[in-house]
Amino acid sequence: AAPNQAASGSSGGDNHAKWLTPAIFGSIVLAFLCAFLAPDFAASLHLGGELFLRMLKMLVVPLVFTSVMCGVLGMGDVRKLGRPGAAAVGYYLMTTVIAVILGLLVVNVFQPGKMTLTADQEEKLVSAAEKNSRGKIGKYLSEETGLSASEVQRVLAPLPEGQPESPPSVTMIVENLVLMLVSDNLLAAAADQQLLPMIVFAIAFAAMLTTMREDVSSLTNLVTQSNAALMKFVMLLMYLAPIGIFCLVASRFGEAMSNGSEAFWAELRQIGGYFMTIIAGLGIHALVVLPLIYYIVLRKNPFRYLLAMAKALLTAFSTASSSATLPITLECAEEAGVSKRSTEFVVPLGATINMDGTALYEAGAALFIAQVSGADLSLFQQLIIAVTATLAAIGAAGIPEAGLITMLIVLNAVGLPLEYMGLILSVDWLLDRFRTTVNVFGDSVGAAVVEKAMPAS
Ligand code: ASP
Repeated sequence: AAPNQAASGSSGGDNHAKWLTPAIFGSIVLAFLCAFLAPDFAASLHLGGELFLRMLKMLVVPLVFTSVMCGVLGMGDVRKLGRPGAAAVGYYLMTTVIAVILGLLVVNVFQPGKMTLTADQEEKLVSAAEKNSRGKIGKYLSEETGLSASEVQRVLAPLPEGQPESPPSVTMIVENLVLMLVSDNLLAAAADQQLLPMIVFAIAFAAMLTTMREDVSSLTNLVTQSNAALMKFVMLLMYLAPIGIFCLVASRFGEAMSNGSEAFWAELRQIGGYFMTIIAGLGIHALVVLPLIYYIVLRKNPFRYLLAMAKALLTAFSTASSSATLPITLECAEEAGVSKRSTEFVVPLGATINMDGTALYEAGAALFIAQVSGADLSLFQQLIIAVTATLAAIGAAGIPEAGLITMLIVLNAVGLPLEYMGLILSVDWLLDRFRTTVNVFGDSVGAAVVEKAMPAS
């Protein structure tokens, strides 16, 4: 088969049944009910959720390779990549910066951090302060969040050991980010689910293929057909999504409703103002800013697009991982009518570096911590928060609670006390779900917007 035939095979008319979106939505509502009425039973459903999550994650590495390669091959000539590439990066940067400013704005306006600490909180902060060194904080956070120790250490790399007396310079953070682009061991990067070096490699490899004089059709067929087969598998998974998502949501919320989660509820009560402020910021970004950008560029109804992406957005909420959601995001964007070339190229890159929700949260949370700790930040310091929050969001991996960890960079840069993170730790798993949903919607709007900059085929 010709490459384009194989490529079009994945989406060819095989659209999902219309019932799938309401089914997934219904399964989340049912999961909440189940968690509320029978929390212990709900919590015991985690196996089903884990199985679904593993199947999604299993597809991520091969899909990133094949879909990015297909995206580049679909353009035919690597020189045509410049315009859409620049448009994608420009879009990512612009929306991330808007998100950061919005995060600072809502926290400045609502001032959720102007509160007095309870004795309980004071005690917690003191005990967290004792953990205040890079190694210990890493261990503490990986225990609290379930992130692997290597992931935590990778993120913490630019931080100086010990107290935040010598904050990392912006140059150091940027250096670290640049190095994240290239891995000296591609297999290790794949094993670690570090998508960025794989994307760079896939672009380079596909670019080389387009410049070869030899007949490379067998290789391009291999890639496009593999991609088509993987996308077929994603479709199959979508039919399992209502059950998988039910289990994921029921088990996590069941856990929160059952005994032994007092810390979560106590904390949510204490910092409810902060929680709602960040949610408000995320809501404005997802329901006003992104739709506006979509409308200005495409002159189409953004809320119709939001609805078309609903399966991906609900998966993002359920998994708290934009990387695990990637297969579904690719599928939904294509189904919503965004061209394959744009989707294949823009979405994987976006899932890795474009995190609007995380950026908004990092800036907002850092400012909240400043307010609680009584630090009076100058405008210049808020600017440093904006810059480092942007970089920290770019550097955060698309995995649960990665944003919490990269926030250390932001706090460190303006010399805020790291131990105050103890204050927002127990509720972060919930906030994470909302910001991940916004992250995925940002990538989806990106794919649609960048399509405008694609070369004519
Ligand atoms: N969980 C988020 C994501 O996967 C990252 C974060 O922690 O903010 O997109």
